[in-house]
Amino acid sequence: MTHARDNFIAWLRNAHSMEEQAITMMTAQARRIENYPDLKERILLHLEETRAQSETLTRLLAQFTGGTSTFKDMAAKLAGTAQGVSGMLTSDAVIKGTIGSYAFEHMEIATYTVLIAAADELGEEEIKASLEAILAEEVAMAEWLEKHLDDITRIFLMRDERDLLAKR
Ligand code: MG
Ligand code: FE
Repeated sequence: MTHARDNFIAWLRNAHSMEEQAITMMTAQARRIENYPDLKERILLHLEETRAQSETLTRLLAQFTGGTSTFKDMAAKLAGTAQGVSGMLTSDAVIKGTIGSYAFEHMEIATYTVLIAAADELGEEEIKASLEAILAEEVAMAEWLEKHLDDITRIFLMRDERDLLAKR
């Protein structure tokens, strides 16, 4: 199962890089939201979960490789930073951000579904269980966003119509 092991390690690395990017993006998002307190609170909660996910992935990689492998993904972190601080906000920034978050959570769901299948093939039951716990958090975040996209859009439109600050 050498190839399966190598693929699994590469996918763990990608997942870690994805989570580091998520931390950067959600930090920037939470910082700028002012008028959508429920959204802000949910992002901050998921930010905490995401920090723990990133640490879990570091631990899983060390566990799987016997501590011989570490993550080097500064590039992804910097890419995330660039997206997070990219200057002017569009007038519908909160909507664009929420659409982006919804898409990102689904990328994470797909990533962990792949990792769980690979861990299962490799007979790594403990690692699989940790990945399933992360997947449950991604699904919960995706479901929250799906449930609240309607409200957020209506609040945005109402605020924008009344010339209240709507974009954040
Ligand atoms: Mg995540
Ligand atoms: Fe997530």
